[in-house]
Amino acid sequence: MSNNPFETALNSLFIASKYADIDPNVVEILSKPKRIFEFTIPFKMDNGDFRLFTAYRVHYNDALGPVKDGTRFAPDLDLDTVKALGLWMTIKHAVAGIPAGGGKGGIRVNPAELSEWELERLTRAYIRKLPLKGAWIDIPGADIGTSGKTQAWMLDEFEEIMGYHSPAAINDKPVEVNGTQGSAEATGTGAFYVTMQAIKDFGISSNASVAIQGFGTVGRMIASLLYKEGFKILAVSDIYGGVYSEAGLNIEKLVEHAEKTGSVINFQDAEPITNSELLELTCDILIPAAVQSVINMENVNNINARLIIECANGPVTHEAEKILEQKGKIIIPDVLTNCGSAIVCSFERIQGLTDDYWDLETVLQRLRERILKAYQETYQTAITKDISLRNAAWVNALVKLARAIKKRGWV
Ligand code: NAD
Repeated sequence: MSNNPFETALNSLFIASKYADIDPNVVEILSKPKRIFEFTIPFKMDNGDFRLFTAYRVHYNDALGPVKDGTRFAPDLDLDTVKALGLWMTIKHAVAGIPAGGGKGGIRVNPAELSEWELERLTRAYIRKLPLKGAWIDIPGADIGTSGKTQAWMLDEFEEIMGYHSPAAINDKPVEVNGTQGSAEATGTGAFYVTMQAIKDFGISSNASVAIQGFGTVGRMIASLLYKEGFKILAVSDIYGGVYSEAGLNIEKLVEHAEKTGSVINFQDAEPITNSELLELTCDILIPAAVQSVINMENVNNINARLIIECANGPVTHEAEKILEQKGKIIIPDVLTNCGSAIVCSFERIQGLTDDYWDLETVLQRLRERILKAYQETYQTAITKDISLRNAAWVNALVKLARAIKKRGWV
């Protein structure tokens, strides 16, 4: 199986399009981006050295609305990765019922090697050079290597270029510059709402045991919420290793420890555990919330959890998924589980367009309604068509996209 992320995304598209029974011309449209921008940024470093950076922005598909989503600054960024992320965002917005298309972009650069001033100048140059941008065309958000800080610079540069304020043109901004409440909580909290519904539907008890890989923004949030609900969190890990407690970890204390030391390892009242051991633990719920492809042909036969909640993008490989399905394991797919940030970004745009800013309670309540609706639609399709939840989520997205594409008269 190829490691090319765009081929992986297309594979999901072609499999689901058979179940969705949609017009092959629609599938052909969805197999290619609508627009690709690849451009260079000539740049003078602080010490006077010259660098030429390669940048991208892909408007994958805008049948449902203006494209939106992240901006990745990474040293290995390439066009196929940006195209894959654009297709996934197209699907994620459709799954969540968000009137937006999928977009993605970024710069091939290691932001850790830039000074603060270089990062600001490069971020501003990226926005200046984007050929098509704005609240009704393309709304760049944050991703790996970007953050609220870069998004505030992007907003400022955009508004300087246009000569007017336009908070809906950039997402993932800090609240001080018209961002939304709940940005940081969005994905972990959305995944928590989905988990609570899934355990009811699949008959898993509310004091079930849980293992979580990844203790960053998403893993930490869902771990804290499940802990407060009374789940027994048996193990948690990060890139440095993991910790295990048969009696259950105290997540409040673990968060304090991780904030103080930068890792979960060496936490008191717990035993060390490796990332591989964590994935293979005997537990009810496994939550991969770190990186892609961690459940694969090498470890799939040792996966014991009954319910797998995909918080990371693509943590289960296609081949491993087939085996897990044969064994009756339930996978709640990434395009559904982690769409909370896409939902809250759409709320951020609405707030920017209306100049009406919501409190955290309102954001979380609307997130809950929206993500549980997406979950219910996926669950119903899975039952009706007797297909996996992943195929069901993609089928629902493709049906919505096909209807919009037909009504627009593209096919
Ligand atoms: P993060 O960078 O805040 O945290 C990642 C965590 O995973 C850290 O604890 C890190 O130590 C750990 N990790 C990294 N590499 C690892 C490895 N090889 N083995 C074990 N642990 C490893 O990231 P995040 O924002 O929490 O995102 C986690 C996942 O969720 C990613 O796959 C991301 O693409 C996905 N996701 C995040 C969001 C969001 O809003 N943050 C939205 C959608 C999807």
